[in-house]
Amino acid sequence: MKSPIFENVKKTYRGLKEPYKKIIEDLESAKKAIWETSIEYWIFSRLKRLPIIDLRIVLFFVMITFFFDSTDFITFGFLIFLGVVVYDLFLIFLNFIEHPLKDRVLTRNEHKLTSYVENTETAKVSLKRINKNYAAAWDSACENFETYPPDWEKRREDVLQRDGYKCTKCGYPKGFKRRSRDLHVHHIIPLYKGGSNSLSNLTTLCHICHRNIDKKHSRIRKISKKRRW
Ligand SMILES: [Zn+2]
Ligand SMILES: [Zn+2]
Repeated sequence: MKSPIFENVKKTYRGLKEPYKKIIEDLESAKKAIWETSIEYWIFSRLKRLPIIDLRIVLFFVMITFFFDSTDFITFGFLIFLGVVVYDLFLIFLNFIEHPLKDRVLTRNEHKLTSYVENTETAKVSLKRINKNYAAAWDSACENFETYPPDWEKRREDVLQRDGYKCTKCGYPKGFKRRSRDLHVHHIIPLYKGGSNSLSNLTTLCHICHRNIDKKHSRIRKISKKRRW
């Protein structure tokens, strides 16, 4: 259900959040820049760029040496194999120390980040406040929407849950032998009379009570065999 009201709420708050998101991104770029200009990164990136030797090729080589059954070849092949294993372990080790190393570089350059960190802290607080206002604005837009709002399914489920999945008029399905009615969520003051979609204006009714109470909905009948309790 698309309506300009909801699109506007989204757009407004997206615009409000943007500058603060940018501040948080700035901290990340600053961190990245510090890391990428450090001597550690220089060494690290070169070590990582060493060619990765495929173990299968080495094994193939070792097999050939066995085929020729020459002691020299076997020793040679074994040494290469060993070398590759050590090298791969070294690569694993590099991956393992990358994060701690990065942290060390950042800690050493903490003074360069202080202002960014402070701004980010403030930005996070502001974002939290904006998100809270956004939720409230969205809720209010839904409540005051002249027809069923986009969050209707959730709203409906909240009402059913609040009312214990029982008709607030007759208590159905409690005491009824057969489960033969639908549960509806009904507007106490109808929307067309200016009633809102607020939870206080919504209540759970079985389709029989709903039909009796809501003359405008005289066509209400059991619509499905799908039961909702
Ligand atoms: Zn009922
Ligand atoms: Zn109704």
